Amino acid sequence: MLYVSSEKKSIKYLNKKINKGNTMETSCDILVIGAGPAGTIAASMAHQAGKKVIVVEKTTFPRFVIGESLLPTSMHHFEAAGFLNALEDFDFEKKYGALFIRDEEVALFDFSQKFTKGWDWTYQAPRADFDKVMADEVVKMGVPLHYNTEVTSVEFNGTDSVTTIKHGDGKEEKIHAKFLIDASGYGRVLPRFLGLDKPSTFPPKMATFAHMTDTHRYDPRVEHGRPGVQITFYVIEQELWLWVIPFSNGNTSIGIVGDPKYFDQDPNKDPKEIFAKYMALRPEVIERFADQEYIMEPRSITNYAISTLKMHGEGFAIAGNATEFLDPVFSSGVGFATESGYKSALLAVKQLNGEKVDWEEEYEQHMRRGINVFRSYIAGWYNGDLQEIFFAPNENPEIKEKVCAVLAGYVWDTENPFVKKHETALKTLANVIRLERKHAES
Ligand code: FAD
Repeated sequence: MLYVSSEKKSIKYLNKKINKGNTMETSCDILVIGAGPAGTIAASMAHQAGKKVIVVEKTTFPRFVIGESLLPTSMHHFEAAGFLNALEDFDFEKKYGALFIRDEEVALFDFSQKFTKGWDWTYQAPRADFDKVMADEVVKMGVPLHYNTEVTSVEFNGTDSVTTIKHGDGKEEKIHAKFLIDASGYGRVLPRFLGLDKPSTFPPKMATFAHMTDTHRYDPRVEHGRPGVQITFYVIEQELWLWVIPFSNGNTSIGIVGDPKYFDQDPNKDPKEIFAKYMALRPEVIERFADQEYIMEPRSITNYAISTLKMHGEGFAIAGNATEFLDPVFSSGVGFATESGYKSALLAVKQLNGEKVDWEEEYEQHMRRGINVFRSYIAGWYNGDLQEIFFAPNENPEIKEKVCAVLAGYVWDTENPFVKKHETALKTLANVIRLERKHAES
């Protein structure tokens, strides 16, 4: 923690600190709230552009957060932020695609077979380790990162802001910033302070997840990487599905997601019982995990989809989960976190350098265009259209590579008709496949 004793009159520690009475006052160009992927990408990009950056993080790392399956699009951001070597050194499991299974039907998406050019692999990783690697890199760059420090208030005066933070020892500090990036994830600092929360367009869902040992990894359905580490999504019912995300540390994340109506709401029920009940619905899952130990016992989270009225304002941008979170099914959360962390930092730097920024078009509408593509795919997953396409009896490689590009996170490539016409393409195609199925059955 970079707190400076109140006896000292002033001190320079990368950023100017002045002791006013008992409250320390510090100034910087860009204050970043939160050291998750959105925050560390933003901090690195702004620091590399020569700006004085401070990051404040409520917890102490490593900390648990859910969201372990990433998208290839984030690799561009990890690379630009200078994190790739450190991530590679950690040897996180590589994710080359995704496998979807419904009863006996199987759909394997291989990111090397996608329409849009770009990264064809990414990581599947425990976020406690993954986020710490990136945060450590930011600290190594010389950016002050205050752990165990919470934002308690923010006041704006035009584009300037004064943020009050409370350190773990109870001492307060005021940070004067020319720009503020709120990457506080589920903390939603600015949306809460400014009343920007907006309900999601999606109905409430519930997820129960755990980390388990995984000594019987056996699934050989991989074309790349180590056998038994293929990330797999099992459809249990149209609106109830299960994820299996193996990590390189030998443990695996398992999660069950669906409409809360599927889950036993009895508060006295042991979450492990709920977990076991749903794992048992897929024989290969219960066979693999029945005798395994919990590394992290099952936890539940409900009603996590949320949106925000706006993503920017005078002197601030909101990034990552603090803007909008849709659904876990296509692993888009970290993808949007890194894209928005990257974009918001570059635009903030541009503005601080005296150039004009059209925040609405260059940031918010850009983000919303990508989010809306995934919104269509997630809606299509739960209403059955996308499952119809994934498990179509006759696979069409040309369509598959276009859907695969979306699943890899390339949702801004308007050359891809399955991006450009996302609102209609899935429904139309699903209806054609349904007709073909009917025809074949009659
Ligand atoms: P976070 O990673 O949440 O980081 C925000 C940081 O801000 C935290 O470290 C927090 O401590 C800090 N903070 C909060 N409040 C304050 C404060 N007042 N002051 C200072 N610091 C503060 N996404 C995927 O990409 N893949 C998945 O497989 C996936 N699965 C999911 C499954 C479920 C059930 C759910 C609910 C979500 C899932 N997600 C997934 C979404 C993923 O969790 C988030 O999208 C992702 O973590 C967002 O990153 P972020 O940087 O915006 O926020």
